[in-house]
Amino acid sequence: MGTATDKIKELRLEIERQEKLIKDCKHSWSKSKYDPETVQVPVYSHLEPCGSDPYPVYTYHPKQMDRWSRTCTTCGHTQYSTELVLVSTEKEPKF
Ligand SMILES: [Zn+2]
Repeated sequence: MGTATDKIKELRLEIERQEKLIKDCKHSWSKSKYDPETVQVPVYSHLEPCGSDPYPVYTYHPKQMDRWSRTCTTCGHTQYSTELVLVSTEKEPKF
């Protein structure tokens, strides 16, 4: 049975192998989809008395953030974006 150190080495090699697969792939991207991410946002709650130096207490609330993703159909790599670009395919006559 391998030691924990052997296991770490083995996993590092596997990570390298997988990263190379992604790096060498020419990527054929699927259609992008709306894929929002839920993040925890701190919201001020109250001041907690602590001697002469009270400190603010925050609670965390889930907030849905806009995000889009696309996945490579060859290697399975997924990319995420939170930005949109304006794309226009419309044409109009040029005079
Ligand atoms: Zn790929």
